[in-house]
Amino acid sequence: MKIENLETLFTKEQIRNRIKEIAQELNNIYKGEEVVAVCVLKGAVMFATELVKYLDIPLKMEFIRLSSYGSATTTSGKVNAVDISLPDLNGKNVLIIEDIVDTGLTAKFLIDFMNNNFNLKSLKFCSLLDKKVTRKVDVEPDFYGFEIDDKFVVGFGLDYDGYFRNLSYIAYKP
Ligand code: 5GP
Repeated sequence: MKIENLETLFTKEQIRNRIKEIAQELNNIYKGEEVVAVCVLKGAVMFATELVKYLDIPLKMEFIRLSSYGSATTTSGKVNAVDISLPDLNGKNVLIIEDIVDTGLTAKFLIDFMNNNFNLKSLKFCSLLDKKVTRKVDVEPDFYGFEIDDKFVVGFGLDYDGYFRNLSYIAYKP
């Protein structure tokens, strides 16, 4: 995959505007509440750091690392917990921040993990992108930025073989 062959799907302005809209929604929903935002590394790092800038609620950030991709562009169907060390989240409002929901296996794994390990006050799942057409398990993000077709996308945190995470926009290879 070469950068000159990529086509932009969402510009940085579109992404920023949509993130501000999601933040507004979250500010209304969590008004008067404290939230623990759990960023799923590495893909959600840009989305999470941009989103939390617009949240005006008491907030803590945690980071966990998972991997599900066996090869560069095909899902392995198995979620690996690379580092999922978290503080005691009992009684907390947890907001999971992900880059993309594809098959839904990662989202399901995380939701089950949170519910099995903690007695949360609330749990919500927020993803920048949602590939609804490729879903294999019954899971929907509570909030998402954009719905996309079955395309392999890169940029704004999303990688191909470790590259392209630094792009300020989201692109795909046509
Ligand atoms: P799922 O478990 O829903 O199949 O996949 C979730 C993970 O797969 C995402 O967190 C992301 O790391 C990776 N993934 C799924 N689709 C894409 C894509 O189009 N581009 C990139 N770069 N990663 C993807």
